[in-house]
Amino acid sequence: MTLEVLDRFPRAALMTGPTPLERLDRLSEKLGIDLWIKRDDLSTLSFGGNKNRQLEYYFGAAQAAGADTVLITGAVQSNYARIAAAAAARLGLKAILQLEDRVPGMGETYATSGNVLLGEILDAEFMRYPEGEDEAGADRALRARAEDLRRAGRVPFVIPLGLANPPLGALGYMRAAEEIQRQAPDFDAMVVASGSGLTHAGLLAGVKALGLPTPVFGSCVRRPAADQTARLTEVCARLETLLEIEGLIQPEDIRVWDKALTPGYGRIGEPARTALTTMARHEGLFLDPVYTAKSFAAVLGLVEEGTVAPGTRVLFVHTGGLPAIFAYQEELATGAAVKAEP
Ligand SMILES: *Cc1c(COP(=O)(O)O)cnc(C)c1O
Repeated sequence: MTLEVLDRFPRAALMTGPTPLERLDRLSEKLGIDLWIKRDDLSTLSFGGNKNRQLEYYFGAAQAAGADTVLITGAVQSNYARIAAAAAARLGLKAILQLEDRVPGMGETYATSGNVLLGEILDAEFMRYPEGEDEAGADRALRARAEDLRRAGRVPFVIPLGLANPPLGALGYMRAAEEIQRQAPDFDAMVVASGSGLTHAGLLAGVKALGLPTPVFGSCVRRPAADQTARLTEVCARLETLLEIEGLIQPEDIRVWDKALTPGYGRIGEPARTALTTMARHEGLFLDPVYTAKSFAAVLGLVEEGTVAPGTRVLFVHTGGLPAIFAYQEELATGAAVKAEP
């Protein structure tokens, strides 16, 4: 199969071209593998990230429907919400961001800095949802708000989160698979964060559609391996339905790794902290605490446990999220500068 099937879906142009693909020389040497990075943290809009590729298809659908307002839901420090607000600004639409209380016990900085601050600068409208583990409920709250807007003469478009929706965002990562293959073919393995699963499923579907044997490992950022495998299975089934193809993805293609998830979504454990500092101190590149620290921890872990053999050509997909570093100030700061002697 070719990726021409994607032409069927309307797409708003939020990417201005391919993101860089670079070799990480010092980390390659340290880990004994041939390590490359796909810089989707440099995708065009508002500090970049994987949601630019996903949102091209949601905003394409929104524009095709004549929408004047988009509604989206996510964690308080949602990169998805921030990039949706930026895309809305760029395309001349209004954005309503619903922030869910998904990470209990976080302080003032988490509630106000990073993506929240950027959303305010973008003049997004905010709503809150008190529950962080009820995707269907969060989507219902968005749809109720959309209904109110419709009655007031507006044309709202809901970007849903729950599983029971066509995974339009995954189409963006099928395109990314093709972009990667054009830039540097034939990786032995790819590693990416797996949250909603749209990025992971799309990349996997793109790799399979291109006829490549490359395994795609998803590092769990939201739920344990068994639950994430079930979710991916469902997302892939819905993606096949959307594309009107069958048998593209087999159960054995779904590979998840969850040893950096600890202590849970939006919280930094030792594997993630080590991954974040290792990347910064060897390559001068930053990872975010919620997603990419955990996906890069999977690269370190897969090498350490031998799943990825020495010499393997590995692609780490950097999915962005960098504004959240500043929201995790209290968790990440060492105080080294404050404590320095004259
Ligand atoms: C949303 C997000 C992910 C996870 O992508 P999904 O498609 O939801 O699995 C990974 N990295 C960053 C920075 C994100 O914002």
